Amino acid sequence: MIQIYNSQTRQKEDFVPLTPGKVGIYCCGPTVYDFFHIGNARPFIMFDVLRRYLESRGYDVTFVQNFTDIDDKMIERARRENTTVKELGDRFIGEYWKDATALGVEPATVHPRATEHMQQMIDLIQGLVDQGLAYAQDGSVYFHTPAFPEYGKLSGQNLEDLDAGNRISVDEDKKSPLDFALWKAEKPGEPSWDSPWGKGRPGWHIECSAMSMHYLGQHFDIHCGGQDLLFPHHENEVAQSEGYTGHPFVNYWMHNGFLNIDNSKMSKSAGNFFTVRDILKEYDPEDVRMLMLSAHYRSPLNFSRDMMAQAKASLTRLYTAKARLLALKKATKAETAPEDGKLMGQLDEFLRHFNDGMDNDFNTAEAMGALFELVYLANTEMDETTSTAVLDHALDTLNKMTAVFGILKKEEEGVPEDIQALAQERAQARKDRNWAQSDALRKQLLDLGWQVEDTPQGQMLKKS
Ligand code: AMP
Ligand code: ZN
Repeated sequence: MIQIYNSQTRQKEDFVPLTPGKVGIYCCGPTVYDFFHIGNARPFIMFDVLRRYLESRGYDVTFVQNFTDIDDKMIERARRENTTVKELGDRFIGEYWKDATALGVEPATVHPRATEHMQQMIDLIQGLVDQGLAYAQDGSVYFHTPAFPEYGKLSGQNLEDLDAGNRISVDEDKKSPLDFALWKAEKPGEPSWDSPWGKGRPGWHIECSAMSMHYLGQHFDIHCGGQDLLFPHHENEVAQSEGYTGHPFVNYWMHNGFLNIDNSKMSKSAGNFFTVRDILKEYDPEDVRMLMLSAHYRSPLNFSRDMMAQAKASLTRLYTAKARLLALKKATKAETAPEDGKLMGQLDEFLRHFNDGMDNDFNTAEAMGALFELVYLANTEMDETTSTAVLDHALDTLNKMTAVFGILKKEEEGVPEDIQALAQERAQARKDRNWAQSDALRKQLLDLGWQVEDTPQGQMLKKS
């Protein structure tokens, strides 16, 4: 049984989808005013793994991830660059695709843009006004939090405490300090849309309520995003959506922990960030995925070069094990062997461990352990006498696990013969301890576009 830690109830719960066999997921996506950083990449990668795992368990997943293409940051950056908000959005959505694709993040089922869903937002706001949950004030519209007594339930706070903390910053236009903008009256020079309250633009929170309900229905399974979004963004989404429909909005709320640098959150505003674009100049995209997978998505994860080096080394072990299994398959003569039953049983057990880890609130660190159990078995218990039946099963099990993680996708076959011959020569030179020759051959291979890595299991070739 899959269990999910639900931020709303603050406990692990059995996962039961609303419709058997189907899952609806909404994830808060990027604000497209700049390149995204590797902190942002954490939810993109981890919730991509969530989706892949659910699909591997046979669920039909509808995955929605939005693009926030209108907000203060978009307006400010467009102004600085002397361009329009629309053009800025188009540009950074294009850049998002480049980085997300490189990181192996699959496109969502739908990637709705806020500016293309004005009508859905306006309808929702109008509904809230009609029900007395929102009020218009000088061309803006605010959600009136005291009218929704359950406000605070997602983040585990109550209205009185929240109210007390906010009393000092009472905004003149608002009836209550916790009221928040659903619609913002037009300001000179800013993009605006027509609405029943005059020209203006939506507040940020309303877009996710409008687009999630539009694509997934008014009650759906999973909503996710970074932990910084729990309050107020998601709290406000709950208030708007449940206030509007009068019934539950989301069954499971999932929040990823922060990617930190020196134990503080990586963020653009703090200036302590690395863009994915820059990181990929130095590292392989799969190294980044491996780093993310090494920790449970809810734990904090510290980014450092040491951690990246560890991730890289772990990935190399996986590639080496896979190459070894493929090489053994070529060398082996036996289709079956006496120890098949035992080895097959062990492989099945590893896949069970893997699934147990993933069932346990998508604990990729735990599941990774099972992957390395398989690697250990391949390296210690399998050789030229192992049957093709077992080797095929080992490769199949390995592929099942790595497909969920979205790693080990580089072609290990198809190394041209002349390259293989040079690599062979280099292996011999190393055996003969002829270091000058082995270095020269490494350089020659590099010039031909192939990188050689020396591992405890021998040398490995990778396209450079
Ligand atoms: P933004 O583009 O700022 O709206 O962020 C996109 C996603 O990245 C949201 O789900 C954020 O919660 C998440 N996020 C931002 N910074 C970090 C970080 N340092 N670690 C993990 N997630 C983050
Ligand atoms: Zn959102």
